Amino acid sequence: MTNKIVINLARTSKIFQPLPSGIFANKDKTEILSKSYKLMINYGIIKSVSTGMYSILPLGMRVLNKLIKIIDKEMTDLGAEKIMLPALTSAKLWKKSNRYNSNKTELFTVTDRHDKEYILSPTYEEAICDLVSATYLPEKSLPLRLYQISSKWRDEMKPRLGFIRSREFIMKDLYTFDTTLNKAQDTYNLVCESYSNIFKQIGIDHMKAVGDVGTIGGLSSHEYHYISDIGEDVILWCSSCNYTINEIISKITTCPECKGELQRHNSVEIGHTFLLNTKYSQPLNAMYIENNKLKPMIMGCYGLGVSRIFALIVEILSTNNEMRWPTKLAPYTACIIPPKTGSKEEYISAYIEQLFEILQKRDIDTILDDRTQFTIGKRLVYARAIGYPYIIVIGKAATQSIPLFEIHDINNSVSHKLSLEQISGFFDNVNLQD
Ligand SMILES: [Zn+2]
Repeated sequence: MTNKIVINLARTSKIFQPLPSGIFANKDKTEILSKSYKLMINYGIIKSVSTGMYSILPLGMRVLNKLIKIIDKEMTDLGAEKIMLPALTSAKLWKKSNRYNSNKTELFTVTDRHDKEYILSPTYEEAICDLVSATYLPEKSLPLRLYQISSKWRDEMKPRLGFIRSREFIMKDLYTFDTTLNKAQDTYNLVCESYSNIFKQIGIDHMKAVGDVGTIGGLSSHEYHYISDIGEDVILWCSSCNYTINEIISKITTCPECKGELQRHNSVEIGHTFLLNTKYSQPLNAMYIENNKLKPMIMGCYGLGVSRIFALIVEILSTNNEMRWPTKLAPYTACIIPPKTGSKEEYISAYIEQLFEILQKRDIDTILDDRTQFTIGKRLVYARAIGYPYIIVIGKAATQSIPLFEIHDINNSVSHKLSLEQISGFFDNVNLQD
């Protein structure tokens, strides 16, 4: 068992996963929160730190990093470059754009030793304009597309349900700069396309609604929503032509496009796109040079609630007691459960190595539940609760002359007993891109 392959295998016993009531304790709680909040806290995906603030634990980070990888790929395909702006933005910039006073109650602010005030940024329109105003860009260097994925802060009046509405959250924010409104509209359409691609890969249906420009402002906007009972937003949807609008903008009962009836759905906003025009570029001097003249760039800004999507995946896909993930985003794709220490079958643990090799060859990230002081049954309950899409049990059937292994296909609710050769075939035919 000292083989190099097996040494590299991730092990459940080594994962930092502080569970609030012990690994296999009864999870019944009297407090009714949301399903995702309860599951993510109870199974050590996130940990509550203070009101509306959460630490993301190792298993949660693996999910988040997989989600970020999908977003990075789409942003790169869009020609956007990744940057990182400081968490603190000078309050002076927010005064220039006239947003400081109107947003003050929701801003976390800090003052340095020289009495200079900073904002823990909830969004970065001012900071990005300040960055790009450092140089006047020649016309031919546009369009410019810059994005970051980082923590943002908002002093919410009522933080609720973990990352559904938290005071510190992770957002992807993209800012685009074009020379004309037509070109900015083309960019806007491209970003909307890349958002559809991202949501398609996550695999949960989303709604794209006519949006409210709200405090960000600008010419037009769209909101992206996941339908969920725990959502505080209400969107109106026409099943005939797909017209969708946030009820807060217009409380109509018939579709303005086809006169069909509108259905109401509770939802959570997960993304927002804005065509800003020169609302920020003009006052903050984000200019480009055309025929030796300075002109304000036409701007767009595009948010994606990364930590909110992370929580909503659990809310939408999970059962009451077990988490579920899109196969692409699960903390580990597969989990191997070997026999209990001291059991009659203990000797068949040697198959771990061969199973791991099959999975590794197919780039399937795998964890070994090596807490062999527990029975297979207990660990299977636990692995199902974490929601690993494929659980492989090395049990009694592996003692037969042709050893068989139980493969639990969790997202499809089926299980199979397969030989090593059949397992290779099984994973060759599994589409891990779904
Ligand atoms: Zn309609």
